[in-house]
Amino acid sequence: MRELELQYEGKSKLIYATESSERVVIRFKDDATAFYNIKRAKIENKGKMCCDISSMILGYLNANGVSTHFVEQIDQTGQLCRVVEHMPLEVILRNVIAGSMAKRLGIEEGIVPENTIFDLCLRDDKLGDPLVNDHHVVALGLATYEEIAMIYDISARVNNLLVELFDKAGITLVDFKIEFGRAADGTLILADELTPDTCRLWDKSTGERMDKDRFRRDLGRVRETYQEVATRLSNVLK
Ligand code: UDP
Repeated sequence: MRELELQYEGKSKLIYATESSERVVIRFKDDATAFYNIKRAKIENKGKMCCDISSMILGYLNANGVSTHFVEQIDQTGQLCRVVEHMPLEVILRNVIAGSMAKRLGIEEGIVPENTIFDLCLRDDKLGDPLVNDHHVVALGLATYEEIAMIYDISARVNNLLVELFDKAGITLVDFKIEFGRAADGTLILADELTPDTCRLWDKSTGERMDKDRFRRDLGRVRETYQEVATRLSNVLK
């Protein structure tokens, strides 16, 4: 399908129209950003690595009964995706305490809670993506209570599938962020990416960080580590 005009440029991706009103092409850039764009860098080959990783993960979810916007990877950095009406919400799932939850609640990183933790955040850089609850989401007119219940249900299924996938790759899925959109028929489907930019991934044997924390915290070897995630996933999904 022919790629037409640029519709949107985000921090790490470009979205192009296509000949079909139901499809877009999403291109992954080499840019890495953190702390609301304060920290920025270009990482060679990042666009390709993230496109490969997200395509593998979303393809795996599609194959396991979770509807996503991903249709197919079309080349090294591009994906053909379904057009969705993006919900301005981030759903964060936490299997191990880390990052903002550790900081906000004064809990040590690495503690494993008995339950899976679901955070809802409003996607708004200017407000710092504030944490919201179900009632806020309904009051803001972003979703109904029924849709929120569906979001939790799909998110839990995604978590189960991804914990298993990463486990086979020797990686602990610490936490991750997903986003949802409404497809043309109104159904809720998973949109956006799943990459080491949006997940915390810890090597099961060494505890080494295999995600964007390498960039956020200046741990070095960002490119090598993203490549290692891509290689391990590709071996598991072969
Ligand atoms: N995350 C993301 N985009 C955001 C906020 C968080 O992809 O705008 C991911 C992040 O990479 C991590 C998880 O969601 O895997 C939990 O992030 P956290 O709330 O701990 O925030 P952080 O301290 O990473 O900013």
